[in-house]
Amino acid sequence: MHVGHESGHGHSHVKSLDLSTRDGVRALKVGVAGLGFTTAFQVLLLLLSGSVALLGDTLHNGVDVIGTAMVWVAFIVTKRRKTTRFGYGYHRLEDLAGLAVVALIAASALFVIYESARAFGDSPAIQRPWLVLLAGVVGFIGNEAVAQYKLRVGKRIDSAALVADGQHSRADGLTSLGVVAAAAGIMLGQPRIDAAVGLAIGVLIGWAAYSSGREVILRLLDHGDPEVRHQLEHAAESVAGFDHINKLRLRHSGRTVHLVAHVCMPSAYSLVQAHDVAEELRAAWLHVLPPASVVDVHADPFDRETGAPHLKEAAHSH
Ligand SMILES: [Zn+2]
Ligand SMILES: [Zn+2]
Ligand SMILES: [Zn+2]
Ligand SMILES: [Zn+2]
Repeated sequence: MHVGHESGHGHSHVKSLDLSTRDGVRALKVGVAGLGFTTAFQVLLLLLSGSVALLGDTLHNGVDVIGTAMVWVAFIVTKRRKTTRFGYGYHRLEDLAGLAVVALIAASALFVIYESARAFGDSPAIQRPWLVLLAGVVGFIGNEAVAQYKLRVGKRIDSAALVADGQHSRADGLTSLGVVAAAAGIMLGQPRIDAAVGLAIGVLIGWAAYSSGREVILRLLDHGDPEVRHQLEHAAESVAGFDHINKLRLRHSGRTVHLVAHVCMPSAYSLVQAHDVAEELRAAWLHVLPPASVVDVHADPFDRETGAPHLKEAAHSH
């Protein structure tokens, strides 16, 4: 028997989803606007100066704005109604958007590293170093303001993702201080400091591409987070009426989790009894999983004396 009705049984997380996303989406909008203005201002100063450190910082901020906007659009699409043809919804779109963002980050890292290496050799004269200084200060203030906002909202709506995003913005603000150091170097007659800061920022962007790329690709390969698995095993401890869990298979799709569980229950159970236990497990698991997650519970008849049906289970695949 396969139990797992996506509606009905009076268990819905749709309400909590709406509440948290309205605040979350507003935080995204404010973040994109704040960082967008910062980046636009930096682009202007970049064109007037030609500093590679500023090129790195501006590209990084620009990619962050585009990336957030892409994930935001993907997120809006995931709220569309499920259809029979897309029974799991459109959450994978968030992972695909993530993959596109990673490609963008990687390309900008390579570009910044290339330009910085070239600047090391040429040491081109950088015009108006005070504009570079101004751009660094603006980058720091813009990112730090966005960081404080995201951290405040993230803590209020208890969103780990938004808090992590705020910490990212804070780290980006510190990166902008590197541009301030580069400007000071140029003013002191050491233009190579600009190339060195550019190179360091390029490597930082490259590291971001690697770590976020790894995460996105693992998700697309249906990797299940061991920490989530651990939480699920704990959540099942609060439910009685089954013997043991035979199989627990999970994968991530966007922010949601798909879980398939094979649970061994006494063979003497009626269909209604087995269904009740399965629904209790499903509710317990939905409570620890992100909103819009999907849980299917499969009940296996189990005899404590003989250990059946584990031998038979191997023969049929499910
Ligand atoms: Zn049911
Ligand atoms: Zn960033
Ligand atoms: Zn079993
Ligand atoms: Zn079975």
